Amino acid sequence: MPLYKGIYDITIVKMNSMKRIYMDHAATTPLAPEVLEAMIPYFTDYYGNASSLHSFGREAKEALEDARIKIARLINAEPSEIFFTSGGTESDNLALKGIARRNRKKGNHIITSSIEHPAILEVCKVLAKQGFEVTYLPVTKEGLVELTTLESAIRKDTILISIMHANNEIGTIQPLNEIGGIAKERNINFHSDAVQTVGKIPVDVKSIGVDALSISGHKLYGPKGIGVLFVRKGVKIESIQQGGGHENGLRSGTENIPGIVGLGRAAELARNTMLDESKRLTALRDHLKDFVLNRIEESWLNGHPTKRLPNNLNFGFKYIEGESLLLYLDALGIAASTGSACSSKKLSASHVLTAIGLQPEYSHGSLRITLGQSNTLDDVDLAGQAIEQSVIRLRKMSALGPR
Ligand SMILES: *Cc1c(COP(=O)(O)O)cnc(C)c1O
Repeated sequence: MPLYKGIYDITIVKMNSMKRIYMDHAATTPLAPEVLEAMIPYFTDYYGNASSLHSFGREAKEALEDARIKIARLINAEPSEIFFTSGGTESDNLALKGIARRNRKKGNHIITSSIEHPAILEVCKVLAKQGFEVTYLPVTKEGLVELTTLESAIRKDTILISIMHANNEIGTIQPLNEIGGIAKERNINFHSDAVQTVGKIPVDVKSIGVDALSISGHKLYGPKGIGVLFVRKGVKIESIQQGGGHENGLRSGTENIPGIVGLGRAAELARNTMLDESKRLTALRDHLKDFVLNRIEESWLNGHPTKRLPNNLNFGFKYIEGESLLLYLDALGIAASTGSACSSKKLSASHVLTAIGLQPEYSHGSLRITLGQSNTLDDVDLAGQAIEQSVIRLRKMSALGPR
């Protein structure tokens, strides 16, 4: 059974070494050891409430402000423009609801893209029910928002543009500086979900001219359940939850000091290592891309060939169902992701793959590999072999496939 031998060999290697290879860093990243180390004292010794006036409170407050400075530095913001939230989802909710509602007297039109994260798209649905009008910009087949399309969507009553920096599925990086320029020229608030870029590629809020920008801790080797919304000084935004008036009144709730300290440390580490790490990951990414595309027939890369995240690959394989491929890879110790989800009745393609124009037969066999700090050249080679073997095996069994 030569067909199965390859996959069998890999399985044995994996089981003997008990090594699993994590290649799903767009879903979440492991906590950096330095981050954990920085956080621990804030669970054990420095547990004060940052609002308290005693020394315990002052210690917490000091750590809070120190983290604010570190995050501001990473994105070239002022510390007073950094607001802590519970993560990327909350930051997106706060930005969209907070800016839309506060600026409602000026207009009720919002522009976003059709490939945003659900944390944007689902909020837009709610806002639409509350009387806002939302335009969803189409994208090119590489996943880019076109500036001319954006410009022609702008109306007199447009109050907010929200375009993500890089897409979490296909990795395409949008021309944020140009979008920021257009928004500024028309005096429209501009928000960007930069959860996938902050810590991976340089993000400079001043040069982009962005008014609000979302960050999530667990996407940059920080903890889960902590995030940041950058809000440029002077931007009109209202809070979406009421309480004790923390975070300058924008986000009430006792601050998650260990999480905040962790995110601050993660931001500091990212700032120091980002350039070298992104070069390393780009080389690994391209190595794996070449292997897969050269070895597997009827395979292709979704997303933009060059304007893409250094760690992202999104492959398409004809005659394959993405979830089956994931399970095969998982059995070989490789953790990845797919854009196709098999619900009970129908195969549903990701909204992103649909938006870049893939027909169902081309979007069902998608595989997202997102590399990270732990991945080596050996890992990438093993992943390439595992993908090749799995695709061959699945195609042999496939009802869709060539016989
Ligand atoms: C992960 C992610 C989010 C959500 O962040 P959480 O911290 O998990 O809530 C939002 N947008 C993008 C692009 C993401 O990748």
